[in-house]
Amino acid sequence: MLVFMDVYNLKDIIAYMDCPLKYSLFLNSDSSLNYPLDARTIISTALAETYIKVCERIAQGRPYSLVERAKFFSRVWNELKSKYISSGGDEARTHGFLMTAHKKVLEMDNLIPGNWDVGVSRYPTELFIGDAVIKDRLDLVMVNRRKTNQVRIIIMDTSLCKESDIDYGIHLRALFNATFFKRELRSTPDMSIDCSVYNLHHGYQKPLHFTKNDSLNYQRSIKNVIKCINSSAFYPRASADSCKHCMFKNNCSFSMV
Ligand code: SF4
Repeated sequence: MLVFMDVYNLKDIIAYMDCPLKYSLFLNSDSSLNYPLDARTIISTALAETYIKVCERIAQGRPYSLVERAKFFSRVWNELKSKYISSGGDEARTHGFLMTAHKKVLEMDNLIPGNWDVGVSRYPTELFIGDAVIKDRLDLVMVNRRKTNQVRIIIMDTSLCKESDIDYGIHLRALFNATFFKRELRSTPDMSIDCSVYNLHHGYQKPLHFTKNDSLNYQRSIKNVIKCINSSAFYPRASADSCKHCMFKNNCSFSMV
């Protein structure tokens, strides 16, 4: 007997948590983005993709010049910007941080950990949670060159949060992907796995630690969001920060800006 399960992208679940109405407007739009980005995260997403690309090239032993990096960043940024604008986004907002971002592309080597090699990049992940399949992507997995049983999961933070802030979406992505990866490596129990968040915009790396409660709560949160989506609970969760950068703020009667 064939059993069909609902499939969700973790980024959509996180978008729902940010504002259910935004999630619904995005689903009903003809946007070609694969999840709702705002004007700021277009730049941080292009930065994160460039960082992964640089790491991949280093792992392949192929030099990646500063000019190539800058070109790659500009291409990804332009692609995302075009999709964002054609989905109704405000072009004027997309240029903030651009000069700073280009400088960060040129200084990216400072954030690549020494003594660690890239094991895996852009690896698709999925977990069964309740009756649904949830999908995401592992951005980078690094392996310690000196102790090969030490593995570090790196989650690229594109949210522009400062180091002192806790972004629930990033925490959720990290926990989800760490759980997936631990399951993948369950036949080699002596592996030591830690998890770090890299924020290129603010230029920091932050280790993340999870408690047993975190592991139970994240599944509960995802199940609750799925229940709400299935019952079409698309209420506005307006806040000055969310609305300020929301691609729908000009047409949303609940917008706080
Ligand atoms: S403008 Fe605010 S309330 Fe409206 S969809 Fe966007 S984030 Fe939600």
